[in-house]
Amino acid sequence: MGKRYKTFEVYLVYIDPDKCDGCEECVKFCPVDVFDMAHKATVGRPQNCLGCRTCVAVCKSGAIIITEI
Ligand code: SF4
Ligand code: SF4
Repeated sequence: MGKRYKTFEVYLVYIDPDKCDGCEECVKFCPVDVFDMAHKATVGRPQNCLGCRTCVAVCKSGAIIITEI
């Protein structure tokens, strides 16, 4: 019998610093605390990302890109 591997998704979270205006919406709405805030948002815990894309929906600046790998 062959080995079974669990399939899983990994997501890349990218914030374009030139577009981010520091509104903090992504920090407020991410359910798993991926983002940190300095004067702009940064990706503190990318391993937490569930790929829900809530952050993309709430970011009015279009600064966040989620890529499934
Ligand atoms: S929602 Fe967008 S513009 Fe606002 S802090 Fe997050 S990345 Fe920056
Ligand atoms: S896709 Fe969802 S889980 Fe991932 S960073 Fe955005 S809001 Fe958080």
